[in-house]
Amino acid sequence: MVLSLSTLGFSSALSRLNFFPKPPPSLFSALTTFRRNQLPLKSSLAASKRDGDVVVLGIETSCDDTAAAVVRSDGEILSQVVSSQADLLAKYGGVAPKMAEEAHSKVIDQVVQEALDKAYLTEKDLTAVAVTIGPGLSLCLRVGVQKARKIAGGFNLPIIGIHHMEAHALVARLIEKDLQFPFMALLISGGHNLLVLARDLGQYIQLGTTIDDAIGEAYDKTAKWLGLDLRRSGGPAIEKLAMEGNAESVKFSIPMKQHKDCNFSYAGLKTQVRLAIESKKIDAKIPISSASNGDRLSRADIAASFQRIAVLHLEERCERAIQWALKMEPSIRHLVVSGGVASNQYVRARLDMVVKKNGLQLVCPPPRLCTDNGVMIAWTGIEHFRMGRYDPPPPAEEPEDFVVCFPEH
Ligand code: ADP
Ligand code: MG
Repeated sequence: MVLSLSTLGFSSALSRLNFFPKPPPSLFSALTTFRRNQLPLKSSLAASKRDGDVVVLGIETSCDDTAAAVVRSDGEILSQVVSSQADLLAKYGGVAPKMAEEAHSKVIDQVVQEALDKAYLTEKDLTAVAVTIGPGLSLCLRVGVQKARKIAGGFNLPIIGIHHMEAHALVARLIEKDLQFPFMALLISGGHNLLVLARDLGQYIQLGTTIDDAIGEAYDKTAKWLGLDLRRSGGPAIEKLAMEGNAESVKFSIPMKQHKDCNFSYAGLKTQVRLAIESKKIDAKIPISSASNGDRLSRADIAASFQRIAVLHLEERCERAIQWALKMEPSIRHLVVSGGVASNQYVRARLDMVVKKNGLQLVCPPPRLCTDNGVMIAWTGIEHFRMGRYDPPPPAEEPEDFVVCFPEH
């Protein structure tokens, strides 16, 4: 049996899925693409719950991490469990969807059970279940959605479909209680590079996105070509090696200098890096741990020079986006930086300077909440639940062979 997400009762979440409109070519069209995404409030359950009573299980399986967490609406993280596919990632040099799906299926029950156990709760104590429904690899998303539906159906709990990128942005409100709408968010990960103006819950204007690759992808490929240890993904390996190198030594050009917008591009920088690696005759098959001192230094120089330019590109686009956003919402006080690449200390320090220069404050969740995690899903679930945006419990018994279809993102 094949069911689409809307027939499965993810209607409200589905409309949120399209919440990032196409990138605006100008400020004017940014304003015109603004859409109100207010959904009808379902009063009964949400209204009857006092704030402190809401406890949500969040499940995330959009890419290569199987994650679950239990969070309470006062912001207390009751548990957090992540099972990463780091070994698979290192072996294949990237995410292979079928392998990733199998890896999620193998651990999902255990990860969710551990999240409940660590929170000293059972399913009966939950108020609702939140689950990532996109963007991501549909094979992988399906594992999380099926698990969430099984729990929600079995225990008569409402279910909340979550947009992964919205969760990266909103988790900052769990950390920083002063973070009110409107605020700006730069979301940087392996698959996304987004600049967003968050006007209100469910109301987002996309100021910029990548026209090709995301910055995390550029970090990952650079690390792979430099023969670095990828078990913790490429980003942390580049960040560490870059500290040994001279960031001015290899001349890379800043992407999209001539485009006076807030979009990003990392494909060209990747090519520049690959050519530099080839010209220095660096052999990725020789792991950095076995490289000679001279070889190690040239790899470090490339890592540092790449990082400087990759982040300069972020700085330039953020600077412009802040000007755009302040014209639309002069009351903005914060720029949130989240997603896996936001764990990087150099990225944080550089963006902090840009943000301060423009009279704003930087909000960065701690690294474990920047990379994919269940807490951000649970928290975003709480935010929507409080507004009455959730779907009713799915049927207790769902056909064994049902397949969830995910729309293109
Ligand atoms: P996804 O891209 O699946 O949404 P995450 O949000 O967890 O996943 O982001 C993973 C990306 O973040 C990877 O590309 C990884 O290299 C990058 N990353 C993680 N830590 C760092 C770091 N310290 N510096 C730079 N990039 C990092
Ligand atoms: Mg992510």
